[in-house]
Amino acid sequence: MKYQAPRGTYDILPEDIRKWHYIEDIIRRLTTLYNYSEVRTPIFEQLDLFQRSVGEDTDIVEKEMYTFKDKKGRDLALRPEGTASIARMVAERNLQSSTREPLRIWYEGQMFRYSRPQKGRYRQFYQFGVECIGSPKPIIDAEIIAIGWQILQEAKVPDVSLEINSVGCPECRDKYNILLKEFLYKDKDKYCTDCQRRMEQNPLRIFDCKNKTCQHLIEKAPRMLDNLCEECAQHFEEVKNSLEMMKVPFIVNPEIVRGLDYYTKTAFEYKINYLGAQDALGGGGRYDGLIGYLGGRQTPAVGLSMGLERIILSLEKSGFSFSEEDNLEVLIIPIGINPIQASIEMMQKLHEAGISAIVADEGSSVGSNLKYCDKNNVSFAILIGDNELKSGLYVVKNIKKKSQSEVKKEEVIDFIKTHEVVVK
Ligand SMILES: [Zn+2]
Ligand SMILES: [Zn+2]
Repeated sequence: MKYQAPRGTYDILPEDIRKWHYIEDIIRRLTTLYNYSEVRTPIFEQLDLFQRSVGEDTDIVEKEMYTFKDKKGRDLALRPEGTASIARMVAERNLQSSTREPLRIWYEGQMFRYSRPQKGRYRQFYQFGVECIGSPKPIIDAEIIAIGWQILQEAKVPDVSLEINSVGCPECRDKYNILLKEFLYKDKDKYCTDCQRRMEQNPLRIFDCKNKTCQHLIEKAPRMLDNLCEECAQHFEEVKNSLEMMKVPFIVNPEIVRGLDYYTKTAFEYKINYLGAQDALGGGGRYDGLIGYLGGRQTPAVGLSMGLERIILSLEKSGFSFSEEDNLEVLIIPIGINPIQASIEMMQKLHEAGISAIVADEGSSVGSNLKYCDKNNVSFAILIGDNELKSGLYVVKNIKKKSQSEVKKEEVIDFIKTHEVVVK
């Protein structure tokens, strides 16, 4: 029997991992510069957490969650996104009350959604997120938006555009929903069945419908952005001003609603136009109500999330060349079985000096090992046979220079260091 990775999942092989390290290094560096700390939360949570926070009538909760019962009959789900777990963690551990400054955190990890796999979209995918918890200030919205923007710029993802909107607060959204419903009910029967149901519960979500007829019908609908309360309108103005101060270019797009229940005020997306239908690399928004809703103290918060696969795919599409992973520096070649112990000791000394090294299989020929060095950009080979054991002089081959020296075994490390090996 031959096994296959489950549909919608994939392996990251050694030749591809450098792409991940490339983007992960940028995320780690930039979040550190902004004083964000990494957190890691469980891969599964109570099912109820996602139903409540993401929203019962979202596609994610209705159709895409991996749910299961454990042996005690608890209802659990693999996480479909990251913010719900972060909000749960903050509420449960009461983190927001322990700091004067807002809590600045980020995460990266696997998320799971049962959707139709296509290029750049998987059932298990990697997402990173950046969250600032505890401040209602518009400049913090701008900080989060700017971090995501900077990560994409540093990663050299071409032609990204940033679109922002405000989805209002519960107060102005309730008033707006009445207006929107009036508009929708005029052509109620023309919308898809999903939207007809959403019309009652959560009409704003109809802006997210992928159905062409619905999209066309809703074009002329009143916009949240034109119906913000004074406080929300003021907040949005200040977000825009802060982004201008930070020199982050943006466009206002009143159609950005972000499909999740928990967003308030600011919503934003980073978009590209060369990956077909999947034109958003990620986005986020403010979620002032969520932590209180999950039983924590009322705590304002704002965050972003992005999919790593799409970032990597967009870099591949643009022909970006990822740097190579670090090569092996030294291959130690024992000739026969007698020098195995000396070879292992040599390897350990090299490791102590921060130089990568492995011992070749003693049964393989010197010729094939040198070929291996050539092919894999290994800098040095050290040959140890019976003669070398006796004399204490090892043969060190500089592969690139095609030269060879006899070096006292105590001086091998110094010799290699002075010949341009990268010491870690
Ligand atoms: Zn409002
Ligand atoms: Zn629809």
